[in-house]
Amino acid sequence: MSDEKPVLDVKDLVTHFQTPEGTVQAVRGVSFDVGYGDSVGIIGESGSGKTITALSVLRLVPPPYGKTLAGQVNFKGEDLLKVTDKHMREIRGRDIGMIFQDPTSSLNPVLALNTQLGEGMREHMHHSSQEVGRRMVNLFDKVGIKPASERLHNFPHQLSGGMKQRVMIAISIACEPALVIADEPTTNLDVTIQAQILRLMKGLKDEFNTSLLYITHNLGIVAQMCKRVNVMYAGKVVESGDVRTVLKNPKHPYTMGLLKSIPKLGSKEPLVSIPGMPPNMIAIPSGCPFNPRCPYVMERCRTDVPELRDVGDGHAVSCWLY
Ligand code: SF4
Repeated sequence: MSDEKPVLDVKDLVTHFQTPEGTVQAVRGVSFDVGYGDSVGIIGESGSGKTITALSVLRLVPPPYGKTLAGQVNFKGEDLLKVTDKHMREIRGRDIGMIFQDPTSSLNPVLALNTQLGEGMREHMHHSSQEVGRRMVNLFDKVGIKPASERLHNFPHQLSGGMKQRVMIAISIACEPALVIADEPTTNLDVTIQAQILRLMKGLKDEFNTSLLYITHNLGIVAQMCKRVNVMYAGKVVESGDVRTVLKNPKHPYTMGLLKSIPKLGSKEPLVSIPGMPPNMIAIPSGCPFNPRCPYVMERCRTDVPELRDVGDGHAVSCWLY
């Protein structure tokens, strides 16, 4: 299904955390959207604000220290920052699927898999027990857990990490959500299993035409999974656009640095890591937050904050070089 309006339209999102050392400005005015059937990546180093952006969208920022202070999270026409807690729980279970990094902590260790997988369908889709049973077998078949009817009675500890993540994928799509948010779902898996899980997610995304928001630090995964990408640095989107355009012609010096730091098959060029450390989010540098690490830094970069500007074809960058 295509729709003029995006399924998810995030505007000027701001999320802070209070700590004994001071206020962590984790997300500082982030805007992006995800169209129906679209696949959008958010990429950045750890501490860039990408995971907190996803948690803010889902209203899962842990209180009382974390708080989303401003912005809009328009999902299918409703601002999720304004709906009741009860309605938000329904949306999380039914309309937005979630897959996190660690499937072990996402699954309840004392409940059989069929109880956990069927919960959403019983609660939100009001299917009969027979229908839920049929759909669960079908879902396990789709995510490659076989024999499905036997495995459904297993407990989480009886499965490998890769299998648990397959269960999480089955749970995330059980209610046929409009959007799935995946946060580093393959980080803890070995490379072969990672490739299988990515293929599985891509296949299911195409089959169900689900929209996907994929959070990762891995540019290779973004290239494989997403059509569009938002590069985050210091709590802001610093570059966004079509994945091919951004990866082929990166404009922001931070994106250039990320690309130079990934190994290329057969290349003799040395790998170059980005010098310096990600900024302290309690004391973010003035001007462009990348200025202490930037090889192209100019005088104004130390005082003036660059806005995200369109440089053509939906490619946007926040840098005084443009
Ligand atoms: Fe570098 Fe200046 Fe661009 Fe920031 S604004 S990325 S410091 S050139």
